Amino acid sequence: MGVRYLFFLMLFIFSFAHSEERKIAIVGAGPAGLSAAIYAARAMHEVVLYTGHRDSQLLKTEQVDNYIGAPEVSGFNLMEKMLSQLKGLNIELIERNVVALSKEGHRYRIEDKNGDVRTYKAVIFATGSVAKTLHLENEDQLWGRGLSTCALCDGNLFKGKDVVVIGGGNSALEEALYLSRIARRVYIVHRRDSFRGDKTLQEALRKQSNIITCMDSEVVKLNQGNGSLTGIELISKSKKKRSEIRVSGVFYAIGSMPNTQCLDSNDFKDILGSGGEVVTTKWGVVTDMPGFFVAGDVADRRFSQAITAAGDGCKAALEMDAYIGQR
Ligand SMILES: Cc1cc2nc3c(=O)[nH]c(=O)nc-3n(C[C@H](O)[C@H](O)[C@H](O)COP(=O)(O)OP(=O)(O)OC[C@H]3O[C@@H](n4cnc5c(N)ncnc54)[C@H](O)[C@@H]3O)c2cc1C
Repeated sequence: MGVRYLFFLMLFIFSFAHSEERKIAIVGAGPAGLSAAIYAARAMHEVVLYTGHRDSQLLKTEQVDNYIGAPEVSGFNLMEKMLSQLKGLNIELIERNVVALSKEGHRYRIEDKNGDVRTYKAVIFATGSVAKTLHLENEDQLWGRGLSTCALCDGNLFKGKDVVVIGGGNSALEEALYLSRIARRVYIVHRRDSFRGDKTLQEALRKQSNIITCMDSEVVKLNQGNGSLTGIELISKSKKKRSEIRVSGVFYAIGSMPNTQCLDSNDFKDILGSGGEVVTTKWGVVTDMPGFFVAGDVADRRFSQAITAAGDGCKAALEMDAYIGQR
């Protein structure tokens, strides 16, 4: 009896340890992480999905009109639809943030917010990014009510209206140019007296008659009426003059912060870019660290769309599958 008990105990421990060894981790439950989870689970991998606080950037938008197959859907409902697609798949959900991710031999060690530690043979990192904001007084109430960080996403809501873009780098110039085709007038407000963005973009901006530049100026207030944005107040820095512009939309284009704080700075220093993003070497998802893949806005500084993030998730899962197959 004792020997049989010992045998089954050892079998249990062995199979548990073995099954732990086979698992792969996906960190993040936005379009990138969820799409990666679906592809990885369907390829028969045992997936552990760290969802964090489930605060995908997509939840910041009232309406998504450009996700193929799901027209006129709110960001919240689109995320719910994506999550519901996990049902019935072999995916273990851990609804906590990852606080530390490091290398342990050939494996990756993940510690979550509760202090639980597990190691994985491969990781798909899809934690997204957070747009920088000015932290003005009523920002929180105005997201999706005139205030946005994504012209490509929300620009169409302002057809024939006046809008403001805040920023002076390439993304601000690109957003202003994009919006100039949709909006009546586009103001671009920059706190310095010259733009940082490429000369060619600056030239294109100058040619666009409905773009008005407000240099050396800082936005100090967002005005609102009936719960929606109605304009901005700005101060010209050198003249100390305060003025108001009435607009229906304001787009922050002052950069974003990839969510890479949990990556161990020693292990990951060679694959982190100057803006904190993960640098990829192939297909936008493969990195220089074997077994460590990325997907979505945490690495993508150019497109930052739900559909491109979901596409990255698919690619990362397929590359991860090929990597494990080769091993
Ligand atoms: C205002 C606004 C409007 C937008 N509108 C549109 C639109 O209309 N159409 C469109 O295509 N795109 C839109 N976007 C862009 C879109 O939201 C993003 O491109 C997309 O969500 C990126 O997906 P992702 O999975 O890379 O990151 P996210 O969707 O941001 O998801 C990141 C996930 O990682 C998790 N996470 C973060 N840190 C940790 C951690 N340490 N541990 C565990 N989990 C973690 C988060 O909780 C979240 O679940 C909009 C963005 C904004 C800000």
